[in-house]
Amino acid sequence: MNKRFGTPYDVSENRAGILDVLIATKLSQNTTDKSSFAAFTNLKKKFRNWDDVSQADVGLIKNEIKVCGLADTKSKEILSLLKSLKKNFGSLDLDFMNEYPDEKIYEIFLSHKGFGVKTVSCVLIFALGRDAFPVDTHVHRILNRLGIVKTSSPEKTFEAVKDIIPQGKKYEMHSNLIKFGRNICKAKNPLCSICFLYKMCEFPDKGIYRKRKIDPNEIKENNFIILENLV
Ligand code: SF4
Repeated sequence: MNKRFGTPYDVSENRAGILDVLIATKLSQNTTDKSSFAAFTNLKKKFRNWDDVSQADVGLIKNEIKVCGLADTKSKEILSLLKSLKKNFGSLDLDFMNEYPDEKIYEIFLSHKGFGVKTVSCVLIFALGRDAFPVDTHVHRILNRLGIVKTSSPEKTFEAVKDIIPQGKKYEMHSNLIKFGRNICKAKNPLCSICFLYKMCEFPDKGIYRKRKIDPNEIKENNFIILENLV
């Protein structure tokens, strides 16, 4: 897939802050990366740092992130996360986590409501420079359509594949699948007629979608990824 989508973003050269990745990923749930990036930028402009956000009224946070939807839930969960981390670790400087193994990082953040394995896997990649395989709805959908897994949720897909993808290839595969899911194997109306994985795909409806006429607007690429734009 590198041939089709180019070399993935070089995380080793551009590591973002742990809280930046956690909060940006939270904001990106159930919305586009462009909307969540606008919400993230609003927060960064309004507050000097995450410590200031942790002391803010939840209504202020909600107001800054309303552009990305689900602002009520997202603002409460972000505030709760920040307060809890500060209470547990004494400050919001989390750089000491660079020394922690992956399992410990999962354990710490999964204990917070609204922060799941996908979000923590993103922290491992984009903030800590590790190799991980976040499974979002795109990745989950594609791996099921291809017949690589037969699972009912992204969390179950993550469990099914996390140990079979070779170490060193996880992030690259994640990045390519996201781009493949956005631009070709879309949730609605996948572009099966131009798909280079057509022959190996097990999606029962691929023949139907192959015959569908594609509107030129459907092949415009969308490769803006919020987590590649935090630094
Ligand atoms: S053939 Fe269609 S359903 Fe299968 S991977 Fe390609 S775009 Fe997705």
